[in-house]
Amino acid sequence: PLVLGIETSCDETGVGIVRGHELLADAVASSVDEHARFGGVVPEVASRAHLEAMVPTIERACETAGVRLHDVDAIAVTSGPGLAGALLVGVAAAKALSVGLGKPLYGVNHLAAHVAVDQLEHGPLPEPCLALLVSGGHSSLLRVGDVTGDVDPLGSTIDDAAGEAFDKVARLLGLPFPGGPHIDRAAREGNTVAIDFPRGLTSRRDLERHRFDFSFSGLKTAVARWVEARERSGEPVPVHDVAASFQEAVCDVLVRKALDAATSQGVDDLLIGGGVAANSRLRVMAEERAASRGIRVRVPRPGLCTDNGAMVAALGAEMVARNRPASALDLPADSSLPVTEVLV
Ligand code: ATP
Ligand code: MG
Ligand code: FE
Repeated sequence: PLVLGIETSCDETGVGIVRGHELLADAVASSVDEHARFGGVVPEVASRAHLEAMVPTIERACETAGVRLHDVDAIAVTSGPGLAGALLVGVAAAKALSVGLGKPLYGVNHLAAHVAVDQLEHGPLPEPCLALLVSGGHSSLLRVGDVTGDVDPLGSTIDDAAGEAFDKVARLLGLPFPGGPHIDRAAREGNTVAIDFPRGLTSRRDLERHRFDFSFSGLKTAVARWVEARERSGEPVPVHDVAASFQEAVCDVLVRKALDAATSQGVDDLLIGGGVAANSRLRVMAEERAASRGIRVRVPRPGLCTDNGAMVAALGAEMVARNRPASALDLPADSSLPVTEVLV
């Protein structure tokens, strides 16, 4: 099926077009520059930017894909989770297209879409698989029996999300927002063992209760204390070493717990998705450690890890292919949609 997907859960206006597992267009307009000076996404600014970018981004996607809107078989849209006002813009646009074109509407879960997008690059998802979902707002380990309806959380962060930790530590180091890519770059020239930062929820006692959960706020505080101590002593802060050591601590815990979860579930395939999956160290570390345990790792290319419309179209196409019922026209925008609710 030819599916157009619309994503507006945060600050990216994404419109993707896919034919089955084939990616035809992935147009993204980001308002990130408008938020940068505030050090975080400003919801009202994001909503207005989506409104302005929506029609041009749809047009750009159709042009790139070489299709007309009338050729599309179905419309998919992120119905949650995300910023309420931002989601509403995408959902309203998708409803208008659905009614105007007389094509079915599929409301999809943004988190499941971060997993489903990998099909565009590596073909059908192995099911069941273990998914490590790491993004700006979420950090979870999921057992995915069926990406269109059977997603089971094994654990998640008990405080900050991994992406949030990257963004906060970047800020401490004076790097621009969003900080993930900047830390990634700075870390390449740093020493990963320069500073021994804590690995959250990995002590034997914590593992009893939180085997597959994450915690990054203690790590963030440890980095803040370390940087403050340096500044007090008047010595320069070695940004590259702090970035590399911090990134190593995050990736170490993510990979360790993801591989343990896969092993405990008897699953041989690990999929990593969400914005933090774009991290170069995470990708290499996962690949290296998984190989010795006979686990295969799949990670979409970096451009498909951060928010985009193609991921929504990919999950929508899967819904169509598996004969999932279309959504009702009063489909809500649900800012706190849980990952278990894939069918909306
Ligand atoms: P969610 O998907 O939970 O709703 P979101 O959609 O805002 O949150 P994504 O776009 O999936 O989040 O991911 C954005 C996050 O990914 C930001 O925190 C950003 O810093 C982080 N990120 C992006 N690239 C990298 C990278 N190379 N290394 C580390 N983090 C990165
Ligand atoms: Mg973003
Ligand atoms: Fe996201």
